[in-house]
Amino acid sequence: MAQHFLKSAALRDFSSGGVGNMGETDCFERFVEIRWGGFESTVCPQCGVIDKHYYRRTRKQWRCKHCDAYFSVTTGTPFEDHKLPFKKMLYAIALFLAAANGLSIHRLSRDVNINLKTAQVLMGKLRESLYGVRHQEKLKGTIHIDGGHFGGRPRNGQFRKPSQSSIRAHVEEKLMAVKKKGRQGRSAANWKRFKKRRIVINLRELHPEKGLGASKTITAICMAENEDYAISLARTFIEPGSIVMTDESPAYTQLSSWFDHKTVPHAVMFATLDGVSDNQAESYFSRLRRYTVGVSHRIEPKYMADIANEMAWREDVRRNTMRENLNLLLGSVFKRGKSQWWRGYWQGVNRPTELLWVI
Ligand SMILES: [Zn+2]
Repeated sequence: MAQHFLKSAALRDFSSGGVGNMGETDCFERFVEIRWGGFESTVCPQCGVIDKHYYRRTRKQWRCKHCDAYFSVTTGTPFEDHKLPFKKMLYAIALFLAAANGLSIHRLSRDVNINLKTAQVLMGKLRESLYGVRHQEKLKGTIHIDGGHFGGRPRNGQFRKPSQSSIRAHVEEKLMAVKKKGRQGRSAANWKRFKKRRIVINLRELHPEKGLGASKTITAICMAENEDYAISLARTFIEPGSIVMTDESPAYTQLSSWFDHKTVPHAVMFATLDGVSDNQAESYFSRLRRYTVGVSHRIEPKYMADIANEMAWREDVRRNTMRENLNLLLGSVFKRGKSQWWRGYWQGVNRPTELLWVI
């Protein structure tokens, strides 16, 4: 049997250990290489001319041969005016890439030895860049869709519940509670939880080659898992005529009007005998759930879309080597332009709203 792709040595062609052995200039040159392909063909961000512009080695800056503008390798990117050395930035990026379930900012701050605020802004900028290059074109072929609940506090409030003598007694108590308050009745503690609850719906296109899982992921933060959201997302992001697989939630029933819709009865099985499942969508949730449970311990609605998209990116690039992912991640940073959401964050400039899917 073929070796699992994660065990391959070729995967480890870039690591934080490797960055540790690099000098500040090597790290800077890596940025230049990824942005412009080298020193021979730098691009002036002011006038856009590609040339071998005048390089001032001591300042790691260029002067444009045509418009005299000064620029550096981070000009016009989220890292513009950075105070961190290139080595620390590259080290942080290596840690970010190696963390399969995402990275906590506390961990990042400790590992790179940077201020917690610096770590938060750096992480925010990486997520912002990935959000900028998220999949937006229509998915085709076979698509798995599912919704999952994320965010909010644990439901049990201040007091411990007396232990139940049996499962039967526990179930009876639950039933009594439902009878008393009605199915919609929620205690005060529960409302607190629901205020910050959101539904992450993800749509995943399967790789054309069988056995390679999904290769493109689109996520959206919704206020409910219902027909309106499901139809809006599916019609925006899926080519008509594609095969769509979901569980038997009533939210997805109407999809059969536009797509070849197949369902798996989740109460009984994970996949039907003829191969219908939404396992790739579940697989995405597995990663996001591990982030919320084991890495960050909390997920705020305001940044849920950023994080959900980061995990979608991690899913999609999971088979790449570390160096390929470094190029993709830094490529997305260089495409982003100046940061819209994190520039001046600690001076009070930050995105006012969450990024909800609007129907
Ligand atoms: Zn110029």
